[in-house]
Amino acid sequence: MIKIKISKALEGKIRKGYPWIFYYQVQNKHLEGKSGDLGVVYDCKNRFLAIGLYDPESDIRLRVLQVHDSIDIDGDFFEKRIIQALKLRESILNEDTTGYRLINGENDGFPGLVLDRYESTIVLKLYTSAWVSYLDILVPLFKKFFSVDRCVLRWSRKVIELPETTKKYKEGQILFGEKVELPIRFKENGVKFEADVILGQKTGFYLDQRDNREQVRSLSNGKSILNVFSYTGAFTVYAFSGGACSVLEVDSNSFALAASKKNLRLNFKSRKFSLEEFSQMKANAFDALLELERNSQKFDLVILDPPAFAKRKKQKATALKAYMRLVQAGAKVTKKGGILFAASCSVHVEAANFYKAVFSGILSTGRKYEEINRTGHGKDHPIKFSEGEYLKGVFCKITL
Ligand code: SAH
Repeated sequence: MIKIKISKALEGKIRKGYPWIFYYQVQNKHLEGKSGDLGVVYDCKNRFLAIGLYDPESDIRLRVLQVHDSIDIDGDFFEKRIIQALKLRESILNEDTTGYRLINGENDGFPGLVLDRYESTIVLKLYTSAWVSYLDILVPLFKKFFSVDRCVLRWSRKVIELPETTKKYKEGQILFGEKVELPIRFKENGVKFEADVILGQKTGFYLDQRDNREQVRSLSNGKSILNVFSYTGAFTVYAFSGGACSVLEVDSNSFALAASKKNLRLNFKSRKFSLEEFSQMKANAFDALLELERNSQKFDLVILDPPAFAKRKKQKATALKAYMRLVQAGAKVTKKGGILFAASCSVHVEAANFYKAVFSGILSTGRKYEEINRTGHGKDHPIKFSEGEYLKGVFCKITL
């Protein structure tokens, strides 16, 4: 085991449940160990403080598995955590929702590990190679607790670039069960979707937006919708299922736009959508919004769900400006009395700053607004530390 020394200030934070120790915070820099080794932190009185997964390839040098009491990190340990995770999700498990998150990383006691379910397929996404040493224990547990046909492995982009990681386990590898037939079908609140769990973003679908989509559905009856950053059209299908009269999608990715059309057809097999009812723009969102404004096109409900604008902490200020500009452009094409929904999935942008950017974006156009509500992840994305609260959303009524 690797003994890790940290400052007293960080000790306090870890004691309260913060799960990460970065390289710059490690005081004894010359550690020897490989990814997946266990690292132990003792407090200033040399008592056990925490144990976690060591990863010399990551800036996050230690991902904490357990604080306070020293216990064995074995099958029993992980089994208990899986049972806890399942219990937490009991209330969302029903026939209408067969796509949801089973394990939400740090927030479920599995730092750097995400497990999503798409009906009878589970997709394991790993953000650190440290978990490789534990797959022999974890995979049988997944098999035992989740009655599914197969488990697919996905690596995070950062990890896949590392030379060693993918030697043993390849991107898209089946960890148990039958070959995967793509795309995978599943349901969310009764709406049908397809996801490409091998090539799709994240694990194939943005499961974290489920509650926001439900709210969009409830606001859509008889409304014209602009769905910016539409990806595979999830908000679009919900909007039509809520009675929307038209949806215009904007995305720069033609594969996403094609997948969106398929998702629409999956739900409305016999309905023929005219171009007035459903259309797509393959474009940069900022350009598309400008073009719509120039053509004096306005919508009852505008959805702005962009990718993370701040991928690194350093980009925070630039990201906030970009959110502001995006909302500004979105507000310009929202009708008076219409609704604007803006979301941010940037970990590095705090909720308060994001909301400020949204509101100043609206006000900068000379429009006025009433805040309807602020939103976040669904229940299957529990939050245990500030970075876990990455998804922020706000619905605003544009009153003037
Ligand atoms: N709203 C979607 C998720 C959006 S993910 C959902 O509910 O599933 C972000 C999407 O933005 C991706 O599909 C990506 O192709 C698209 N994108 C990224 N940068 C873009 C840009 N500058 N202009 C338009 N689309 C962009």
